[in-house]
Amino acid sequence: SKRARLDRFISQHLKINRKNVRLMLAKGQVRVDGELARDIDLIVDEFSHICVNDEVIQAKQASYIMLHKPVGVVSATVDDKHKTVIELLKCDDRNSLHIVGRLDLNTSGLLLLTNDGRWSKQLMDPEYKVGKLYRVELQNPLTVEYISAFAKGMYFEFEDITTLPAELEIVDSHTALVTLYEGRYHQIKRMFGRFRNPVVGLHRISVGQIVLDKTLASGQSRPLTPEEIKHKL
Ligand code: URA
Repeated sequence: SKRARLDRFISQHLKINRKNVRLMLAKGQVRVDGELARDIDLIVDEFSHICVNDEVIQAKQASYIMLHKPVGVVSATVDDKHKTVIELLKCDDRNSLHIVGRLDLNTSGLLLLTNDGRWSKQLMDPEYKVGKLYRVELQNPLTVEYISAFAKGMYFEFEDITTLPAELEIVDSHTALVTLYEGRYHQIKRMFGRFRNPVVGLHRISVGQIVLDKTLASGQSRPLTPEEIKHKL
């Protein structure tokens, strides 16, 4: 979407025709990510650092943040009733970020935010089968029947969908670990609702290979490491 051929990108940005852009490239007047660029076919994206005649025409930094979301803070960029997760962030570019997979108001744990649309799209695409791990506290005791019901999938009439196979592990009588490979509306609460067993606590531990940093207190955030950004799936 935000990828373009270099000559087209410069032509649109500087409002000059492609023939002149090709001349500039041939004369060595263009740099992409610090390197001299002479190839019109080079594909650039919204995060490519682009200079023409030593003037920066694009220098956008990709940001990837993990937040330990507290209960009572809303996964939205604006809200008139509750504090938003964006307001908890310290980074300067917080208003350019979007949320990668929302959590309910009363859910806590790992929330990812980025300005890189291609990255977040991959994480959320069911095709990639990215597992999201939750710790769930229940009001009533669990039984082994839950395990097969989650593995089999549940039909939801409202959306006319059957949930993808999910993993459920019983930790103790009232605690389960659940891994989902999709994110339907209030999915975990609705799945336990089938057993008339209210969820009294819900916490996300990880998304793919990205695990909530144990040193982050509730409400705190930090940038992802290069390894976390790369090995997300
Ligand atoms: N399932 C829910 O019901 N709520 C969440 O926040 C995440 C998964």
